[in-house]
Amino acid sequence: MSDSENCLFCKIAAGAIPSRKVYEDDELFAFHDIHPAAPVHFLLIPKAHIPSLAQAGPEQAGLLGRMMVLAPRLAIEQGCNPYPEGGFRTLINTGAEGGQEVHHLHAHVMGGPRPWLKG
Ligand code: 5GP
Ligand code: ZN
Repeated sequence: MSDSENCLFCKIAAGAIPSRKVYEDDELFAFHDIHPAAPVHFLLIPKAHIPSLAQAGPEQAGLLGRMMVLAPRLAIEQGCNPYPEGGFRTLINTGAEGGQEVHHLHAHVMGGPRPWLKG
């Protein structure tokens, strides 16, 4: 579950498994969700293998901050309409009861005209 060797999103960030890339820098990677729940639906991840938000400590504060600051820029670039009439949803599922299926920290960014499949 927390093994980076067998982690799907580590492999996607490394390019070992193909994805539709949205963004990449030294620390972060973003790619379209394979089962989009909204017209725009991508995942924003740290390249470092952090299993979930439950494992993020003070040393990850800068990284998490950069993820949050990047989300609105990428949302607009991917076609979300501007705030306040448009906007987007950011969602981080943590653990089984939090609905987390892939155990590499990721923020969902969803947007576009309603209705959406979920929510
Ligand atoms: P979670 O439920 O862990 O918050 O979300 C995992 C997300 O990863 C799901 O929305 C699912 O559709 C997406 N996903 C799972 N496997 C793949 C894959 O191989 N490629 C891509 N692009 N997305 C995936
Ligand atoms: Zn990983």
